[in-house]
Amino acid sequence: MLYSIKMRSAQGGAHECGGRHISGAERILPGEQLDYAVLTMLHRAREHERGCADFISLKVEEIKPQEIIYKPLLPFSTCQAANAAEGHRAAIDELVRAGVSFKAAARGLAMLNGLADSMRGAMVVDCVDGTRLDGMGERGVRASKMDCVNSRGYDEYLQQCGLTGDHVREALVLASKVAGAEGMVAELCWSDDPNYVTGYVASPLYGYRRIPVMKESGNGVGGRIFFVRPGTDLHKLIDYLEEQVVMIKPEGEQTC
Ligand code: AMP
Repeated sequence: MLYSIKMRSAQGGAHECGGRHISGAERILPGEQLDYAVLTMLHRAREHERGCADFISLKVEEIKPQEIIYKPLLPFSTCQAANAAEGHRAAIDELVRAGVSFKAAARGLAMLNGLADSMRGAMVVDCVDGTRLDGMGERGVRASKMDCVNSRGYDEYLQQCGLTGDHVREALVLASKVAGAEGMVAELCWSDDPNYVTGYVASPLYGYRRIPVMKESGNGVGGRIFFVRPGTDLHKLIDYLEEQVVMIKPEGEQTC
């Protein structure tokens, strides 16, 4: 039996009572790995670089096999960027290559740069005119209920690519689910962890493009944008991102 485990944590009370978001995590795992995963999440919420959470919500739900759909793992590759300015230029180039207009890409970057503090989820933005579509304020839309089918094999693959740590592990799975959504053109992300300056642009066309530097070290504000085609059914999109259980399957030979 598989279980979905979700954690969200905040400081100064629950998110819905104005608490500041500290961290979140998602896994889908067999029952025997549940205890360890829950402990790891508790630890993460209480030892996070953004601060120690005083509100931690943990939700564990059984997943029925018939609820699961499978999507391929995005191919992984890295762009060059020696500083945040170069990283932002690389992100715009990648977004445009993936089908986002220059105007929408530039607006998206400005929206993330303009955040006073991190959101819990992502903004959904029109890939042509750059307007925000989700209307979900500081919460944004959270991609949820996803993991990789073969966790051990996936970890080995990441290690082969010289990639360690939770950030890229989780981001590549999340990006693979997001890229599988109807209407999705590209995703832009950089972390809210003050010491993790790496970000990425992911798209169904070009896969996961890691960008080594997207912000100055010490900056605890990060964010995510999902760029979608005009006319995308938002209700269906949000339902897929937040509710559909998706297991990510590495397909064929994986390269770094
Ligand atoms: P992280 O990469 O976990 O540091 O997250 C960077 C930013 O992405 C956060 O500040 C949120 O705005 C957003 N984010 C984090 N987790 C999710 C998620 N599951 N779904 C959508 N957006 C997320």
